Amino acid sequence: MDEFELIERYFAELGARRDDVRLGVGDDGALIAPAPPGQGLVMVTDTIIAGVHFPDSLDAAAIGHRVLAVNLSDLAAMGAQPAYALLALSMPQADLGWLREFARGLGGLAAEHGVALVGGDTTRSDTLTLTVTAVGWVPPMQCLARSGAREGDLLVVSGNPGDAAAGLAILQSATSSIGLGAHLRERFAWPTPRVGAGLALRGIASAAIDISDGLLADSAKLAQASGVHLEIDVEALPLSHALLASHGQDRAEHFALFGGDDYELLFTIHEDASLDGLCARSDCALTVIGRVHSASEAREAGCTVARDGVAIPLDNAGYRHFS
Ligand code: ADP
Ligand code: MG
Repeated sequence: MDEFELIERYFAELGARRDDVRLGVGDDGALIAPAPPGQGLVMVTDTIIAGVHFPDSLDAAAIGHRVLAVNLSDLAAMGAQPAYALLALSMPQADLGWLREFARGLGGLAAEHGVALVGGDTTRSDTLTLTVTAVGWVPPMQCLARSGAREGDLLVVSGNPGDAAAGLAILQSATSSIGLGAHLRERFAWPTPRVGAGLALRGIASAAIDISDGLLADSAKLAQASGVHLEIDVEALPLSHALLASHGQDRAEHFALFGGDDYELLFTIHEDASLDGLCARSDCALTVIGRVHSASEAREAGCTVARDGVAIPLDNAGYRHFS
């Protein structure tokens, strides 16, 4: 099967069918009808590389899901409604079984969120490398940004941070796991982009970011962009039962603060905002984990972690240090 047949078979008409796609896969470029009035375009792109961003052993369907999920997570963090995606696929060989499963994983998530795959590129390379560019819409005044957190706001996280990093450790150890271990592994392999939460936060969150590098690292990015100081209460972290039961309190806290790949949303809201209503519209758990303080000479823009109101000294040598 040549490259064109392969594209036609696996990537033409993948994901949602959309009336606003006038020309999709098959021409030199995609033609899209103008956005509805009042909508701004949000564009994101992310690359994942085998052996760098996911283990070589990850199955093809999970890889297809992942490359779109990491992009939808960025759109969610902007409060955008996803609409279109392009896929650049570089792979060592064209294994038809692998491609079918990859397309199934990507297409399933795309259809779930109304995303049409409208084009891409297919090349050969020694290392499996995947890039998705995704486009979504948001009324510009309601777009979420990393800047905007204000003194007194609450810091909130979706889902259960730490599960994905614990799941990656299980995948890398190549041990078979059932029960709680399998749950954690799934949280790494099939991340859930919080698109619904991002939409629910439009015009409500004062700042937002998605967690890809770890709760603490991404909190620091939000804090710096907003010019504020964030204090995370370690006891408020929503550690999952699976994480606690399999790793214990200290290691679970470590995974939640330092582990990456959660693709949860981290955001700030006014302290009087109703979290219950937001939870219902977000379709996921939302937990207050800290508070926004103004930055000062004593407390520069950034992030600290406290236990019982007492700051815990953090250095990257590891959390075990002080726990
Ligand atoms: P060109 O040589 O003009 O760049 P290509 O042969 O690379 O065109 O691609 C042909 C068509 O297939 C284009 O519409 C392109 O967007 C689409 N395409 C190529 N690879 C992929 C892919 N991996 N996923 C989705 N669409 C693809
Ligand atoms: Mg061309």
